[in-house]
Amino acid sequence: MYFEFLGFRIRSLKTQNAFNTNPMYNWKESISAYIARHTYTGMQLKAMLFDMDGVLFDSMKNHSLAWSEAMKIHGMTLNREEAYLHEGRTASGTIQIVSHRERGYAATEEEIQAIYETKSRLFNALPEAEPMKGALELLQQVKEAGISIILVTGSGQHSLLEKLNHYFPNIFRQELMVTAYDVKHGKPDPEPYLMGLSKLDLKPYEAMVVENAPLGVRSAVDAGIFTIAVNTGPIADEVLMKEGANILLPSMESLEKEWSQVYQIVK
Ligand code: MG
Repeated sequence: MYFEFLGFRIRSLKTQNAFNTNPMYNWKESISAYIARHTYTGMQLKAMLFDMDGVLFDSMKNHSLAWSEAMKIHGMTLNREEAYLHEGRTASGTIQIVSHRERGYAATEEEIQAIYETKSRLFNALPEAEPMKGALELLQQVKEAGISIILVTGSGQHSLLEKLNHYFPNIFRQELMVTAYDVKHGKPDPEPYLMGLSKLDLKPYEAMVVENAPLGVRSAVDAGIFTIAVNTGPIADEVLMKEGANILLPSMESLEKEWSQVYQIVK
């Protein structure tokens, strides 16, 4: 089931991951095409850059529900599917898009604050999101291969490292994290991923990004990094491919299963 939004075709939440039976990717071809497009001489993987929501944690269901309910309380409509398309955008950016569409004028600073407070209150009342299936196993494989792991998230939670350490022990380090507090522009601007590279003084061809959101894919692609899209939400595959994803997988579990094969190509 699909519907149109801003020219995007969005799959209904009900038909989530219906495309699993027909994967549309080939690692060798995708990597060769990436190298050729950027006129690099090759790839030499030194780090993996991971987004968090919808990649490491199955948290987008909660975010989309909280956004949708908060907007309703404040007299506007933002359905859950649309919330996925805004993932990674600042709260005020999302609120302004909806305000202009629904009411034809901008929201005031007070309104933005009120709506965001409602959203946060609803979000915090929901049960804590589970880690994404396959994420821990993938992170462990990456670490064992001697590849650095860098977190690049638009999230601004204060106890982020604590939460990460709880579910993914001994994987993440404070000095290898880019969060909402570190960046000026945020996704879809390339700044967060460029900052991620700079943490270890890396070139774009020395890293790969794992992203689930269209704006996150755009950010990573514009930073010049090979971008693996994992479509863990209700968005149509084409939306992620249109933003420039180099390869698309249906889940973190599938990426985990293929990791060793990928590593042989790019090490
Ligand atoms: Mg995400």
